[in-house]
Amino acid sequence: MSKFIRNTTSKYKFGAHVSTAGGVSNSVTNAFNIGCNSFALFLKSPRKWVSPQYTQDEIDKFKELCVKHNYNPLTDILPHGQYFINLANPEVEKAEKSYDSLIDDLKRAEQLGIGLYNLHPGSSLKGDHTVQLKQLADYLNKAIKETKFVKIVLENMAGTGNLVGSDLHDLRTVIDMIEDQSRIGVCIDTCHTFAAGYDISNKESFDEFWKMFDDVVGYKYLSSIHLNDSKAPLGANRDLHEKIGEGFLGLEVFRLIAHNENLRGIPVVLETPQDDDTGYGHEIDTLEWLETIDDENNKELVAKNIKLQSQGEKVRKEQAVKFKVKQARATKSPKKRTLVKDEVKSANSITSQLTKKRRTTKK
Ligand SMILES: [Zn+2]
Ligand SMILES: [Zn+2]
Repeated sequence: MSKFIRNTTSKYKFGAHVSTAGGVSNSVTNAFNIGCNSFALFLKSPRKWVSPQYTQDEIDKFKELCVKHNYNPLTDILPHGQYFINLANPEVEKAEKSYDSLIDDLKRAEQLGIGLYNLHPGSSLKGDHTVQLKQLADYLNKAIKETKFVKIVLENMAGTGNLVGSDLHDLRTVIDMIEDQSRIGVCIDTCHTFAAGYDISNKESFDEFWKMFDDVVGYKYLSSIHLNDSKAPLGANRDLHEKIGEGFLGLEVFRLIAHNENLRGIPVVLETPQDDDTGYGHEIDTLEWLETIDDENNKELVAKNIKLQSQGEKVRKEQAVKFKVKQARATKSPKKRTLVKDEVKSANSITSQLTKKRRTTKK
């Protein structure tokens, strides 16, 4: 028996990215066992271009378990696309390969009855950013036509330069070019937001960010949240997830999330670095507890924040030093900044940040 019980009174769908080891249907049980009210998964190996198709038996099992554990696949499950998919790639051959993998993923989602699909928007690399955004939108339009109902949810990014979606305006530009806008949405990742330079670490700036988000993109398109604290400081452009409360965001940001009415009813999914899924169970408990704390000066909250901040202190200090060195270097040689290969990789690799168990996932 699991020690985590699903919260039926929470107004939020807190959940986590869970393992599919042993078969995609296992994700449903894994999510249930840690008390998820929504969850994320990989539909196939995040490291390989091609994976075997699902058997009808596996599809049936997935759907049965969703009924049994009361998950609505249309609204509660948000699969994550492979991080090497780059529809904005100016090299045609690579973009085409990405498109094939995307279509395969979208069809898998629809086979399982899943209504949402999370995608990193990619990078324009050495191409013209505006031209590549158009290419990305063209591929998305084509993918929407080739599938029936799944909504493609573009995630905001932490990086800089040619990475699509670090600037929220990129997401707006792409949405504007989508023909069927009922099939496109946006996922906001708290770590990426902060690392991209949008301060959300206190009440005032948090509210400002969401106001700006509504102006630029619009709540109408907000389809999910990724919940991660950040190991790196504001504007560091590093995609380094931290456990909630231990990073530069701190627990208060997650309390604010758990009080933002606009985030109700959509998957709010943890992708924090945990040794195993039990860690997510505890974090979900924490989030559901934060929902009940109305006062930012609540004694228990303050005490918990101090504890978590001290646990993450060493890593924050290391990253703060790295950021300073990088900034100093940047002012010495102020040449135009382009994204180096390593950064594309780190910006896109979420598997390296999830639990160890998930890293070995075969399906
Ligand atoms: Zn994310
Ligand atoms: Zn990330």
